[in-house]
Amino acid sequence: MKTITKILLLSLAVGLAAAGLSAIFNTASAQTAAPEDLSEAERTTLLHMAAEEKLAHDVYIALYEKWDLPLFQRIARSETNHFDRMFQLLGVYGISSNLDQLEAGEFGDPVFDQLYDDLVSRGLESEEEALKVGAYIEELDVLDLEKAIDESTHADIQRAYRRLLQGSSMHLGAFVRAWESQTNQVYQPQVMTPEQLEDYQRVRMPMRGCRGWR
Ligand code: ZN
Ligand code: ZN
Repeated sequence: MKTITKILLLSLAVGLAAAGLSAIFNTASAQTAAPEDLSEAERTTLLHMAAEEKLAHDVYIALYEKWDLPLFQRIARSETNHFDRMFQLLGVYGISSNLDQLEAGEFGDPVFDQLYDDLVSRGLESEEEALKVGAYIEELDVLDLEKAIDESTHADIQRAYRRLLQGSSMHLGAFVRAWESQTNQVYQPQVMTPEQLEDYQRVRMPMRGCRGWR
């Protein structure tokens, strides 16, 4: 068989397999769920995580516009995926939210609104400070996701949090490396303990060279 035919057949097979898988996933997520299926704490956490993903996205876009660092644009793109996943889960469980309708920097929650303003104004001071703001957000995200995973009793939600956690630890590593190479200093964690940061840096090592940012 000619190589080209083999490649075509192979990609056809892969395509069919992917279609089959997505059909399975769609059926799984099409199951009906109600807000009552989640505890109040789980509902609050899901809303909080959706807002936190929007926060990350909106801050990175503002800092990208100021500093033109591609890192912010790349990671912001991944935050869009994170937000979409959280927002989709809110829909699955029938939890209403208008987060997807709000302008950049607006969260309908004074705590997040303030946090956005503070982080952006910090990040506008200098490029180094902007990278440090990125690392701050990711540290926060990692810790919140860990808590959310512990608290959740639903496999679909836990799975989504785990994927976000994987993405966030890569983002954290990327911001830390960028900050360290700009400043020639060793990064000190802002929210995590030094031990927690070390744990995440250890996991992130084998992921080096990984293409995705999710
Ligand atoms: Zn994220
Ligand atoms: Zn992130």
